[in-house]
Amino acid sequence: MFASVAVLAPFMSPFTYGIPESMAKQMRVGSIVEVPFGKQILGGCVIALSERPPEDLPANKIRSIKALRTPEFYLETRELELAQWIAERTMAPIGETISCVSFIGFSDISIRTVERYALTTDYQTKLASGKSPGTKMKIVIEALAANPNAPMSAAEIETQTRLGSVHDALKRLLNRQIITRDTNIVERMDDYAQAPKGDKPLPLTEEQQIATTQINASIDHNTPDVYLLHGVTGSGKTEVYLNAIRHTLDLGGDAICLVPEISLTPQAVDRFRRRFGDMVGVYHSRLSIGQKFDLWRRVISGHCRVMIGARSALFTPFQNLRLIILDEEHENSYKQNNAPRYHCREVAIEIAKCRSLPVVLGSATPNVESYYQTQNGNWKLLTLSNRVDSQPLPTVHIIDMSRELLEHPKSELLSQDLINALKHAKEAGEMSILFINRRGFFSIIRCSNCGAILRCDNCEVPLTYHKTGNTLRCHYCEQQYAPVTDCPHCLEKEGLKGTLIALGIGTQRLEETVQKLFPDANIRRMDYDTTRTKNAYIEAWNEISHGQTDILIGTQMIARGLHIENVTVVGVPLADISLYQPDFRSTERTFCLLTQVAGRAGRGDKPGHVYIQTYAPFNYAIRFAQKHDYNGFYQKEIRLRKILRFPPFSTLAAILATGREEEAVATMAKEFASILNARLWEMPKSDIVVLGPNPAPIAKIENSFRWRILVRGTDDEKIREVLKFAMNEYAQTTGHQNVQITVDINPTELM
Ligand SMILES: [Zn+2]
Ligand SMILES: [Zn+2]
Repeated sequence: MFASVAVLAPFMSPFTYGIPESMAKQMRVGSIVEVPFGKQILGGCVIALSERPPEDLPANKIRSIKALRTPEFYLETRELELAQWIAERTMAPIGETISCVSFIGFSDISIRTVERYALTTDYQTKLASGKSPGTKMKIVIEALAANPNAPMSAAEIETQTRLGSVHDALKRLLNRQIITRDTNIVERMDDYAQAPKGDKPLPLTEEQQIATTQINASIDHNTPDVYLLHGVTGSGKTEVYLNAIRHTLDLGGDAICLVPEISLTPQAVDRFRRRFGDMVGVYHSRLSIGQKFDLWRRVISGHCRVMIGARSALFTPFQNLRLIILDEEHENSYKQNNAPRYHCREVAIEIAKCRSLPVVLGSATPNVESYYQTQNGNWKLLTLSNRVDSQPLPTVHIIDMSRELLEHPKSELLSQDLINALKHAKEAGEMSILFINRRGFFSIIRCSNCGAILRCDNCEVPLTYHKTGNTLRCHYCEQQYAPVTDCPHCLEKEGLKGTLIALGIGTQRLEETVQKLFPDANIRRMDYDTTRTKNAYIEAWNEISHGQTDILIGTQMIARGLHIENVTVVGVPLADISLYQPDFRSTERTFCLLTQVAGRAGRGDKPGHVYIQTYAPFNYAIRFAQKHDYNGFYQKEIRLRKILRFPPFSTLAAILATGREEEAVATMAKEFASILNARLWEMPKSDIVVLGPNPAPIAKIENSFRWRILVRGTDDEKIREVLKFAMNEYAQTTGHQNVQITVDINPTELM
């Protein structure tokens, strides 16, 4: 027997291997294996079996599979077909794509078992018949006798009795048939609490009812409809999801609900578990392989029927999948930024087509390209325009910081209005949130003499000063540097001395400022630095949701999902941060962030107030966010996109060349561009244009230089065809050994 194996290496097609007799019985299409590859041993997945090897392959060239990994595990044909589609669509290597679709990658893992001991029914007779047991054995017997209905593991006995190793004692007791031993499977659960089931559905508003009825009809009839559920913040989108999932379960179906990893808070998981109990599985990147494997077993056995989680939860191998939900569908994290560079929205819609089921995309600020699909009739729009219980949306105040600084020169970070609002909220026992999408203390260190900005040695990225730890840090490679006072560029030139000045604002500096203003307030900072460990993150959430925090300061991890009724004030000290990035989506991103953050305010019976501080008070992203006017924003943005021919009016592809030698990178990027241009020369009617190559906006990351080519055109299929042609041609050229080329179709990140 022979197997076609997709190996975990950058190749587009599989390789043929022989199957040793010993493995033949267990081997199936979808098995995970270990194969020799050159001098390496690699993981792979069997994608086809055959009696004979391909005719053009001499028998002595065929090597054998080395081992079967995780024999119990396999991928279904359906999943392999989906992986093939994704690999084709994103021009990704087949092995890497299957590994990404596989719940456990290509790992070798087994179930975890534990041996537990209990006293036999006639242990007293057995005891009496032999010689008297030693002290240690006696203590063990006492411990087991104290828990007659709960067999104990050796470790449990040791902890309870405070004895050292009980190994020998157990062995002797077993020999004398005083105790029995059982092997049990221990399930490695996720770290979220198993909340008791028992929540009843909430009464629905009229709008929620209309949305629910439509979605349920599509579930009933297995129609592959795509719904865009556009609901303002606090309008109860989750309740619509929960109803659709309930309906799916009642019909015997399974459901997947994707949420961005950042929104996978204990609060969010709790809500699902309280409704559906232990049928709910949670899949995310922080799970161990063991936890993932055990979750897979629960899915296969039918114990888990609702999966919530980040990107990869989309690949849950449910037998009877009938519903896919993508919450916060506008989120960039739904796009994977390494191969395969797929977008969950696109893959979800493909699954829906293949398996005939509806997809629900939900957001308060839908992606402009998604909304466009509802306007041209491809997708169905469902709207929740009111908050539940008719709470008003918060009042948004825009503060022009140029003016503020003229009137109050000392208001460096916080305007007088925002300070007053924080004060009032504190006095009334209400909670406030300050949002700034930048961590650290100072965000820029600049020389007062030559104007140079201090950058990371490995990356073309400005260094951030962190007061905690007193270091300069690169936010791309996390390299730390000792703080310096003199400009290194000026020092290089004889006799010059340039003093470095720290500027800008990050979460740490904001925290210090607020602490000085409100010395007796309970302030909590949440950013990457304070929540790096799993426990710190969950702890912070618990403290916040139990109302122990007066002022919460954080990055985008606090911008969404947070539902705390006591929040009445939200402040955005510098709304302009995301506005000026060299990316055509930067305005959309700003609008979206401001709307989401503002939505945290006034979710209880007290009205909310939002303070947006900006140097660009007339920018339309800020103006429309102030009025909670998604439609107004969409109309303006879509007109601009049309004029500039950006998506959805074109397909965009980014080709990135990276490598250690700048010259080689530039040369190969130019080579690639000329292949593209030569091909387009033969297609005079096409509107595809090649822009670049140019150094990318961040020209170096972790010592790797980056050059970029953009390709744009209205014919999606043609662009893919041209790119595929260029990739093949490029592979034939020489001299690119040290330069990596990656293609990203519909990139979400253009840095
Ligand atoms: Zn200088
Ligand atoms: Zn760096």
